[in-house]
Formats: sequence, C-alpha cells, structure tokens
Amino acid sequence: IIQLYTPLNWFGTYYRMIQSAFIDMESMFDLLTEEKEVKDDVNAGDLSFTEGRVDFQNVCFSYTAGTEILSEVSFTVMPGQTVALVGPSGSGKSTIIRLLFRFYDVQGGCILIDGQDISKVRQNSLRSYIGVVPQDTVLFNDNIRENIRYGRISASDQEVEEAAVAADIHHKILSLPDGYNTEVGERGLKLSGGEKQRVAIARTILKSPRIILLDEATSALDSQTERNIQASLAKVCANHTTLVVAHRLSTIISSDQILVLQDARIAERGRHEELLAMGGLYAAMWLKQQQTPESEVSTEEQPQEP
Ligand code: ATP
Repeated sequence: IIQLYTPLNWFGTYYRMIQSAFIDMESMFDLLTEEKEVKDDVNAGDLSFTEGRVDFQNVCFSYTAGTEILSEVSFTVMPGQTVALVGPSGSGKSTIIRLLFRFYDVQGGCILIDGQDISKVRQNSLRSYIGVVPQDTVLFNDNIRENIRYGRISASDQEVEEAAVAADIHHKILSLPDGYNTEVGERGLKLSGGEKQRVAIARTILKSPRIILLDEATSALDSQTERNIQASLAKVCANHTTLVVAHRLSTIISSDQILVLQDARIAERGRHEELLAMGGLYAAMWLKQQQTPESEVSTEEQPQEP
C-alpha cells in the first residue's frame, strides 16, 4: 500500500508546487500589466447588434479612488448619429471612448448598446462592432501594407489599397522608397502624426465597424491635411454611430449633438448653433479658437526625425 501511495504523494506535492508557481506568475503579470484587462462574466453572451444606439446612463468612473473623472454622466447617441465630446484637457473625453470600448468597467450606472449592458457581453463580441481611430496610432515593425491590413487580416492587397485611397494616404505610400512594401514603425520609416492617423483611418475602413470612435489628435494639422482627413472620415462615418473627441471645434460644426464636459459632468449639450446662442462655455471656447492666428497652427506633415 505504501508503495502505491508514494508516487501519488509525490505527484501531489509537485502538482501543488507547479500550481503555486503558476499563481505566482499570474500575480506577477497582474503587477506588470499597467492596465488590468476587464473580465468577462462566466455566462457572458455575444452582443446582439441591431441598430447601433449607444446609451450612457448615470455613468460614474474614476481611475484612482477619490478622483472622480465622470460623475453621473448620461447621454444617448442615436443610430447613425455623430456626437462630439469637447471640454478642457483632462475633462474625461478620452475616458468616455475607453469606457465604451470597455478598457475599463464603469463604477456606477451603465453603458448600453442597443439596450444591452456592455459589461455583460463578451469583450471580443463588443469590440468586433467598434472601430477606434486613436489619438496616437501605433505602427508595427512591418511594412505599411500589413500595417493597414491589421484592420482586417483577411483583406486582399487590392482591398488594402482601396482603403488607403479612401483614407487619402495612397499617393503618399506610392511616394515612399518601396511603396506599399516600405518598412515602418520603430525600426522603419517614421510617419508624421497626420499620416499615422490616416493609416488608422484606412484600418478602420477595412474593418468597417458599426460604431466608430474617433479620438482626434491634440496637435494641430495644417488646414489642407485637416480637410483631407475630414473628408475621408466623413466617408467612413456616414450612417455609422460615431462618437468623436474633438480638439478643433471647426471639425464638429455639423455634429448631431455636442457634449461639453467640465468637472466630471456634461456642462452643456446641443448643436453648434444652439450652444453658440447659449453664450456659455462652448461659445467662449469657440471665440478663443477663432482668435488663434493661423500662424500658430503648426504642421504635422513633416516626417518626424528618427
Ligand atoms: P485631453 O483633451 O488632454 O486628451 P481628456 O478630456 O481626453 O483630455 P482623459 O484622457 O479622459 O481626458 O483623462 C481624464 C483624467 O483622467 C485626466 O486628469 C487624466 O490625467 C486622468 N487619467 C487618464 N488616464 C489615466 C490612467 N490610466 N490612470 C490614472 N489617471 C488617468
């Protein structure tokens, strides 16, 4: 009997050692990953997407206890509409985008897509319907063709080029040393902020998501680049539910609704003309931007120094 038990005990001891090693490793990874992933519910199902209505209902959120970034924030983006978020730096505009993509879970209230609480559906399913054009696009150490194809891995070369045309970056790519095969990213050619953003737009065009989240770059673009980007974005966003964080108010004049964030709340909401007529925060921001001389608008179109 003893002979029979020994290997079992031996196995048990080792099993426990290996198990605890894995647990240690897990907690180490927890410490290492700065932004802890949100977890799916065990029984989480897929999002059943119908028309693309987005509701924020009394959403409360803070990154660190005691500093409330959003307090009881409520708004609706109707299917196919464009809602713009404006407000001072640090007022929580990008946070709203991150919450809708579920980088974090809300701490109060809820976010609904087509009536379903996004914290109750599988992240992969949620994210498959959403395309994000971030403030700062990450390029991988690969050629520009693959960097665009990242939007939809199964896309053909022709589809990649069509997306590049729509995002107004095709001609720029053709002028690069190896065209679409030019290596970009940290170890390759550096692209300017405006060019990187157009790569992000091309990716989004390939993904063709139902909901689009745009985080406009803080830095100013020259007016021609701005117009080109706006034109390509307008094509992508037409008839898609769109949430855009805007730094330049000129880009959101035609939005269906503008939300002005301040002190963790929506201070004003309405269309451009309505907000101007109110003569409040938005009107003051608008006036200030109108007074900024053109010469202060820097160009990002120059390739950055490596
Ligand atoms: P900007 O116009 O400058 O892009 P924003 O309105 O988009 O600003 P957010 O990026 O949403 O602002 O940030 C809101 C607040 O939360 C800021 O004070 C910021 O410092 C803080 N914050 C953002 N991300 C984190 C994080 N990961 N951990 C802790 N605090 C954060």
